[in-house]
Amino acid sequence: MNAGMVSKTVFSPPPQVHLPVEGEEALFPVRRVYCVGRNYAEHSREMGGDPTREAPFFFQKNADNLVPPPGDFPYPGQSSDVHHEVELLVALKSGGADIAVEDALDHVYGYGVAIDFTRRDLQAAAKKAGRPWELAKAFEHSAPCSALVPASRIGHPATGAITLDVNGGRRQTGDLSDMIWNVPEIIAALSRLFVLAPGDVILTGTPAGVGPVVRGDRITCSIEGIASRSLAVI
Ligand code: MN
Repeated sequence: MNAGMVSKTVFSPPPQVHLPVEGEEALFPVRRVYCVGRNYAEHSREMGGDPTREAPFFFQKNADNLVPPPGDFPYPGQSSDVHHEVELLVALKSGGADIAVEDALDHVYGYGVAIDFTRRDLQAAAKKAGRPWELAKAFEHSAPCSALVPASRIGHPATGAITLDVNGGRRQTGDLSDMIWNVPEIIAALSRLFVLAPGDVILTGTPAGVGPVVRGDRITCSIEGIASRSLAVI
């Protein structure tokens, strides 16, 4: 086969996942979705951790788990304890390996807000058995998110309230400045483990107050100065 030629495929290729960009017609094509665990001290404590002794860590979701607006969240099977986790989403326009902390923000295209929905019962079983987390984290529709807002418009916010409400009641509250690893440190650490590339998306961890949702719940999440997103659990 000649290099550069488009070859036939045995079936239609899966569709590319895209995120909308606020105020732009062009879409952001998604490659990978990385997530940070236990990146806010209060949340680490509520999950039984000790943030003074345990560093944050990474796991992944699938690109096609993202649900751009205005999509709702279908309650998944195989769980009776699905939790919300509101998170700052960081979208990369370039990448590389071994990125220095001081260069990291040059790779950021923009920001948004996302929910890292988690089948907490399956996660607890996986932790107990020393097994991987995909069943708990990387399921269909598990990451509803907002449109992206380009850094060229809002800069690189390091502070700002991050909140999540269920049926009008506040469940999660934090501030971006509470993150144990900030955004440049996350990008630098991740780039030592994976070769980052344009289209990569990072969910940067959740503040305290995670809890269960049920069908019929109305969720609104927001990051001050960046984005908000509303959806129903269906
Ligand atoms: Mn999370």
